[in-house]
Parts: sequence; structure tokens; C-alpha cells
Amino acid sequence: MKALSRDLKKKGLKVRLEEPLWRYTTVRVGGPADLMAYPETLEEVLELWEFSRRQGLRIFWLSGGSKVLFADAGFRGVVVNLRGLKGVVELSSGHLGVMCGTPVAVLTAYGLKRGFSGTEFLAGVPATVGGAIMMNAGAFGEEFGDLVESVTMLTPEGLREYSGKDLFGYRTFRGPSGVVLSARLRLRPRDPEEVRARVRDFLARRRATQPLGRPSFGCAFKNPPEGPAAGELLEAAGLKGFRRGEAMISSKHANFILNLGRARAEDIRALMEEARERVQARFGVELEPEVRIVAET
Ligand SMILES: Cc1cc2nc3c(=O)[nH]c(=O)nc-3n(C[C@H](O)[C@H](O)[C@H](O)COP(=O)(O)OP(=O)(O)OC[C@H]3O[C@@H](n4cnc5c(N)ncnc54)[C@H](O)[C@@H]3O)c2cc1C
Repeated sequence: MKALSRDLKKKGLKVRLEEPLWRYTTVRVGGPADLMAYPETLEEVLELWEFSRRQGLRIFWLSGGSKVLFADAGFRGVVVNLRGLKGVVELSSGHLGVMCGTPVAVLTAYGLKRGFSGTEFLAGVPATVGGAIMMNAGAFGEEFGDLVESVTMLTPEGLREYSGKDLFGYRTFRGPSGVVLSARLRLRPRDPEEVRARVRDFLARRRATQPLGRPSFGCAFKNPPEGPAAGELLEAAGLKGFRRGEAMISSKHANFILNLGRARAEDIRALMEEARERVQARFGVELEPEVRIVAET
């Protein structure tokens, strides 16, 4: 890997060997990546994509790291940190061209300043545009996919633009596999005071119901297609406060798993497995993880 890292550095790419992944995830868990790369341009992403394919290396696209659980042993391959690919261009009133690594908070700030509405429901959520697209991030009945006009991706077929409502499902992107490089979004005109009030309201609702003071990845499980929400099922199964090592199911919101300090990925996985089994046994409902669990190899 050292020789490969030297090759990439010679091409002007910023890379690090054995980079601890816990530093890049909101749950603060994960061992070292063989190589982490920090592209700042689309050309550099393309270079990394081709390099990994040529070398037969696994590649993982990482953005805000707020929905990812890496293994304690880390990741064998290349983790591409997309947070350096930032930028917003106003194409026309309310229509934005955004780079994948742009924090969603930047769009909310734009809306507040210019009188546009769309991303307030994600106020306080540490998502980037690429991650919000891949997860179709949502809350309070709104979803990120509803704002997306088109997505530009690098896929095995090349660089393409995709659009259409069927690109998105519940917490899912249904487009091709590959990396989201940028997107065109549409925000709706709205009185800035109303936008501000919505941000305040959503933040207050989050603070009242979610344990925001400890590392987590938001909701661990998706809500089942019908019936009670995952959090309600987990609570009814008596799982609030349930622990494995230093991983704990929040006593404020049962769908949040908290890292109390030195939780390991294995603790979190075991906790999730046990929680799934208990909900299945008690209610006959199979919970599906929302968090992306990434294997070492
Ligand atoms: C306190 C807290 C509250 C939260 N509240 C919510 C909420 O209300 N609603 C909600 O939906 N989520 C919530 N989340 C979870 C999370 O913020 C979202 O799922 C978010 O969309 C993930 O974005 P990210 O940039 O962190 O992506 P990451 O966690 O970095 O990545 C998530 C997945 O997307 C892939 N990916 C990321 N970027 C790209 C790209 N450019 N191209 C291809 N693949 C990519 C990754 O490989 C990974 O599989 C919360 C998290 C926290 C910590």
C-alpha cells in the first residue's frame, strides 16, 4: 500500500495510510483504513476510481460519516473522503448546482438568507448532499429526494446525469451504483421569517425527542412499511437503556444507539442484533438496519 500511496502522491493527490476511521464518523467508531484519499476536484475522484479499479482495490465513498458503522479492524482498501468537494452555484432563482460534499446546513443557510425553503427539516443533521441523496434523508414527513432535479454520477458506465422520481425510495437511492458527484436541486420561494420559524420548530422537536449530546448515527433502524415506528417497537420491547459494552440504546429515543465513550463496532452490531431478535420475537416484525454496516474486507 505504501508504494500505491506514493504513486497517488506523485499525481498530486492527498492521501494518508492507516487513517483511523472513527475520526470521520459521528458515532466515533472504526479502525484504520488502509488508505484514505481526500480529492478536491472531480478529476481527482476520477483518478481514484480508475486507480482502484486498475489495482483491484475496494473503494468506499465517505461523506459526513453520519450513517456509517465501520468495523473495529477498519477497512481494507481505499476510503475516499468526499468532504473536500464543496460548492454551491445558483443556476437561477431557487435552482442550485451543488457539489456532493457540501453540508446540507449550507443549503439551509442559503434558504434563510435568500428566502427559499426545502432543507429545514434536516436542521441539526450532520449530512452532506451526497450522503443525503444516497440515504434519501428524511424527517417530519419530508425527504431530500423531493428537492433533487438531477444527479450527476460516476458509474461503471461513465459520467452520467440521472433524474426522475423513481430514483428515490424510503431512505434509499434506487439509481445506479457509483459515486454522486453533484446534483441540481430546487428550493421553493418562502418568506425568510417563515423559513427561520421552520428551522427553529424542527430543531426544538429534535432536541425534545432525540439524544443529541452523545455520538450516534441518528436512527439505527428503518421504520417498518406499516404499523408502529421502529423506535416505538424497540421501546415497547423494553430496550431503552439496554447496553453492550459502551454502546447503549438511548433512554430518550429507542432507535438511537449511543457511544458512551469507547464503544466498539462489535458492541453496536451485537446490540442491534439482539434488539432485532427481541422485536421479532415480541411483535413478529423484522427491523431493517438504516445504518450502513461496512465490513473490513
Ligand atoms: C444526530 C443525528 C441526527 C440524524 N437525523 C436524521 C434524520 O432526521 N433523518 C435522516 O434521514 N437521517 C438522519 N441522520 C443520519 C444521517 O445524517 C443521514 O443519513 C445523512 O443523509 C447521511 O449523510 P452523510 O453525508 O453523513 O453520509 P455518510 O454517512 O458519509 O454515507 C452514508 C452512505 O452514503 C454513501 N455515500 C455518501 N456520499 C456518497 C456519494 N457522494 N456518492 C455515493 N455514495 C455516497 C456512503 O458510502 C454510505 O453508504 C442523523 C444523524 C445524526 C448523527
